[in-house]
Amino acid sequence: MNILVLNSGSSSIKYELFDTIGNRVLAKGIVEKVGMKGSFLKIDKPNGENVKLVGEILDHKIGIEYVLGVLVSANHGVIQTLSEINAVGHRVVHGGEDFSGSVYIEDKVIKVLEKTSELAPLHNPANLKGIYAMQSLLPGVPQVAVFDTAFHQTMPAKAYMYGIPYTLYTKYKIRRYGFHGTSHRYVFSRACAMLNADPKTIKVISCHLGNGASVDAIKYGDSVDTSMGFTPVEGLIMGTRTGDLDAGAVTFIMGKEEITYDAVSTLVNKFSGMLGITGVSSDMREIENAANAGNERAKLGLDMYAYRVTKYVGAYAAAMGGVDVLVFTGGIGENSASMRQAICSELDFMGITVDNEKNKVRGKEADVSTDGSKVRVLVIPTDEELVIAKDTEMIISNLK
Ligand code: ADP
Repeated sequence: MNILVLNSGSSSIKYELFDTIGNRVLAKGIVEKVGMKGSFLKIDKPNGENVKLVGEILDHKIGIEYVLGVLVSANHGVIQTLSEINAVGHRVVHGGEDFSGSVYIEDKVIKVLEKTSELAPLHNPANLKGIYAMQSLLPGVPQVAVFDTAFHQTMPAKAYMYGIPYTLYTKYKIRRYGFHGTSHRYVFSRACAMLNADPKTIKVISCHLGNGASVDAIKYGDSVDTSMGFTPVEGLIMGTRTGDLDAGAVTFIMGKEEITYDAVSTLVNKFSGMLGITGVSSDMREIENAANAGNERAKLGLDMYAYRVTKYVGAYAAAMGGVDVLVFTGGIGENSASMRQAICSELDFMGITVDNEKNKVRGKEADVSTDGSKVRVLVIPTDEELVIAKDTEMIISNLK
């Protein structure tokens, strides 16, 4: 089955055409700057080359039409006709409390998603644009939604409720939802496969460290707590997001700087985190380079970043009554040996010890713990597109 996986953001559309029988990616790429000047489609060729096609991509529908055109084109095509696309799988960021798993998209699902948009105004409307576009461009081709939040719907109320008036939960559904669920679910299943472990018997802490970052406590296969909350701002210090921050500091800043909702939202989402602390960049490689060159604020940023992750690992081990496996994924988790080392350096007391030689690995699956480490420390490159393709295949096959 050929599944087109789409991740529609506000100004970009990532795509991947996946052949589930051959278990391989047929084509992938990204449309960038949708609705802006200088929009283009970039194809990632299997040999590592990029092909950039500039075009006037005014909206998501035009962007996806462009992608479909490229998939069947003489120069860059990988299929003969669009009828070879059997289904479309969409990444949808927020499923609210309505979806605890992936779903076949029908009208009633779209209605719920439209309602859920207010919980993720930066993401869900863009995801919906991708869904509407596919409905009109490939009518009759089944579509599936795979949610970032779904995996975390197993959290108990004591983990997802906030200490705010209960009516704010009943009125507006303000609670912890958690994100990166597709990634945490994927690395959990890979960890079980790598260790030949029964999912129902192990306690895993998964650290997804990318531009956005979150930690997940997975007990016997269920997400029982996670660091992102009502929005993806809570928890770890990220590229440009604050992570945990005293709500009192937010109201204080609003008062002092005389700023309102939009400005404070931009502040905590776009100008904070590693960028705000270091003043260097939101990009971990640039921050590591600056720290190596002696930049004190870059060093402080790295220390703060690692310390926050370490604290969450300790907290989630306590939340689960122990931990058997610690997983690192995401651009930083997969690639930065020094960050993994910094995070684990204070965790000996919990039986977490990293082997410095094994830890030199980058971007591939590996067990980087010492032979004697009580907790296995794994590096696992994430693959959210694969999960979306597999979920889509399963749901579509069950329809028939
Ligand atoms: P996104 O959350 O946008 O998918 P990624 O998971 O690709 O992001 O992670 C991007 C982050 O990974 C950036 O901060 C980048 O600097 C970092 N990263 C990528 N490669 C390395 C590396 N070799 N060493 C350190 N950090 C890296």
